[in-house]
Amino acid sequence: MQADPNCVFCKIVAGEIPAKKVYEDDEVLAFHDIRPVAPVHLLVIPKHHIPSTKELTDDDAGWMGRLMVAATKVALAAGCQDGWRTIINTGRIGRQEVMHLHVHLLGGGNEPLPIMLKR
Ligand code: AMP
Repeated sequence: MQADPNCVFCKIVAGEIPAKKVYEDDEVLAFHDIRPVAPVHLLVIPKHHIPSTKELTDDDAGWMGRLMVAATKVALAAGCQDGWRTIINTGRIGRQEVMHLHVHLLGGGNEPLPIMLKR
């Protein structure tokens, strides 16, 4: 998909707004979340625009797999050897705010993260 001129993450990819980048390759960019909720809170995104996982098709399996492998490299490089949490929010029910598919990496510190959802 073409870059969306109104998309904040497309603007980060284009260098039009700043971000604290930690990883970049041909397809993937990773940077610090601007409002971290854990000692390590990084976002891993495809450089091309796709709104959410809802739009994924079989044709996307290759780059999406590479994005997840890149996310593991990013988490380990950030010092999360003892584990981390990977979150992908999708759409309204998933409380997705930025409509450019992104993977949250949460970790850092010594204590396990809070329970994700209360029963
Ligand atoms: P989500 O609710 O999954 O869409 O999460 C979007 C995330 O993007 C939030 O955690 C925001 O703090 C983060 N965010 C929004 N704008 C920026 C930005 N300019 N740079 C870095 N992170 C951002």
